[in-house]
Amino acid sequence: MPEFPEVETVARGVNDRVHGDRIVEVWFSSHTQPFKTPPAEQAEGLEGRTILEVRRVGKHIVCDLGGRDVVGEQAEAQWIVHLGMTGRLLVTTPDGDVAPHTHARLRLQSGREVRFVDPRRFGRLDYRELAQTKGFLGPGVEPTTVEPEVFVRLFKGRKLAIKAALLNQSILHGVGNIYADESLFRAGIRPTRMAGRLKKAELLKLRVALQDVLQHAIQLGGSSVSDYVDANGVKGFFQLEHRVYMRTGKPCRVCGTPIKRIVLAGRGTHFCPVCQR
Ligand SMILES: [Zn+2]
Repeated sequence: MPEFPEVETVARGVNDRVHGDRIVEVWFSSHTQPFKTPPAEQAEGLEGRTILEVRRVGKHIVCDLGGRDVVGEQAEAQWIVHLGMTGRLLVTTPDGDVAPHTHARLRLQSGREVRFVDPRRFGRLDYRELAQTKGFLGPGVEPTTVEPEVFVRLFKGRKLAIKAALLNQSILHGVGNIYADESLFRAGIRPTRMAGRLKKAELLKLRVALQDVLQHAIQLGGSSVSDYVDANGVKGFFQLEHRVYMRTGKPCRVCGTPIKRIVLAGRGTHFCPVCQR
């Protein structure tokens, strides 16, 4: 499953290649699963529109689309892509080999083509007209920009483990397992602590740690962006230098104590029993 920084990286890479371009022709596969909005309706909505910007919202990729006649800065519609487990959004040329499991091809005026490929079909494509419905905000709060006071308030009175709260997409959107474990280690907080019982100072520390981890991952991801977007496959994405994640039994990089693994909220959870209290 693509994690948050991968989605950010894909969105930026696609944006670099297609913003300002116009969608001239749309083709969709006959599979029903990927389409939240019926494909005919999406195709009709997309054709002729200018792509103003492609950006990440939570774990979704949102393409803000302008009008057909007047080229303004105001988004009139959105194409929303959720990558699911195996989805990829690629920018290629029309003569590029069409990968198996391609579900969408958007031909652009520049000659480029945006393609959505998804072997397992858990990904979703959605289209909305902003005159009729509001823009896509996703569930939960954006972790990379959340203000300190807002962050602290998110966990007030929550009777669940902080690790589970971090993974809860209706609280913060897009924080995956790796980033939850790594940020809790950096903040010195044991994943099992009840979210609502954490002190304000601890939550403030956690916010900084989480944003550091995510920014770092996004930066590392940025360097491999062209492979990620242009190539046929998902090539080796960056490796964050993990401090606890998947390091069960290995010495803590700070104190040397073996890293412990437990299962919390159904997910493998890694922590240092000495550094995290
Ligand atoms: Zn330690």
